[in-house]
Amino acid sequence: MTELRYLAPSSLDEAIGAFAAAGSAARILAGGTDLLVQMRSGVLKPGLIVDIKKIAEMTAIEETADGGFHIGAAASGMALAEHARFGKVWPGVLEAVNLIGSKQVQGRASAGGNLCNGSPAGDSVPAMVAAGAIVTVQGPNGRRQMKVEDVPAGPGRTNLLPGEILVSFTLPPRPKGSSDAYLRMIPRTEMDIAVVGVGVSLTLKDGVCTAARIGLGAVAPTVLLVEAAANALIGSKLDDAALNAAAAACSAACRPIDDKRGTITYRTKVAGVLLKRTTAIAAKRAQEN
Ligand SMILES: Cc1cc2nc3c(=O)[nH]c(=O)nc-3n(C[C@H](O)[C@H](O)[C@H](O)COP(=O)(O)OP(=O)(O)OC[C@H]3O[C@@H](n4cnc5c(N)ncnc54)[C@H](O)[C@@H]3O)c2cc1C
Repeated sequence: MTELRYLAPSSLDEAIGAFAAAGSAARILAGGTDLLVQMRSGVLKPGLIVDIKKIAEMTAIEETADGGFHIGAAASGMALAEHARFGKVWPGVLEAVNLIGSKQVQGRASAGGNLCNGSPAGDSVPAMVAAGAIVTVQGPNGRRQMKVEDVPAGPGRTNLLPGEILVSFTLPPRPKGSSDAYLRMIPRTEMDIAVVGVGVSLTLKDGVCTAARIGLGAVAPTVLLVEAAANALIGSKLDDAALNAAAAACSAACRPIDDKRGTITYRTKVAGVLLKRTTAIAAKRAQEN
């Protein structure tokens, strides 16, 4: 039996050095709420675990001078909820992150782990896509930035290069009249995997939608940015015609699986329904900003 090694470095360079040197035998540990479950079930048998929670940058949550946010990839859902300002500026991202698991899971689980786990149903991912988040990744060849929607490559896979670690999410400053929301449909009332998840971020000026982004989860191999749905909202007063067109665009973007949680027909219809409901919540919040 191969021995499992555990490292908890305090610097990013040290983490990347160890992670890259160990190649495919190594796994990053953030909260461990996916990783440890996969190891317990025997799906994964890493030779090295690199715990990134002791690296200060990885758990930092910082509001920048221009009103944007940097969130360390390993910051927990609980830490985000306790931040004095984050939930006021990005209520949709926060509600998506805080839908992940129970209180116990919240104390550990991170948005970085949710994204890097590669599940098309990860709850925080559509909200981050709607937010227009940019991620910073760092590997043996230095740092680079990616749009969050470009990170997932398919179920359980990402477009990070060998040895790369997701370092942080950057969320842009919000113009006045902006807000966001996230809703998911699950067969149970709690602690289940989304059948559909919709994130909406928008800006209203004098009642007209001047900017919008829509993230759609659990209906395709990766979370989708649905530009056609956003375009249907932009320039409208979020009237029925615009909402119906955006809902139709969401349904048209779906390429879902058929499983015990929902059929293809059901998921496709629910995507449109949730788009309307999520937009209504985001718009109400935006009017109050
Ligand atoms: C009881 C329970 C309920 C759950 N409910 C939900 C739910 O409702 N919604 C939902 O979306 N998920 C849910 N999950 C899944 C899980 O909690 C989330 O996906 C969580 O966000 C994972 O974050 P983590 O920090 O624990 O990731 P980890 O388990 O530490 O890591 C997950 C994967 O990403 C990799 N990784 C982590 N961080 C990085 C990084 N910075 N750079 C590169 N790779 C990295 C790891 O190597 C691993 O492959 C649930 C899990 C449990 C156990």
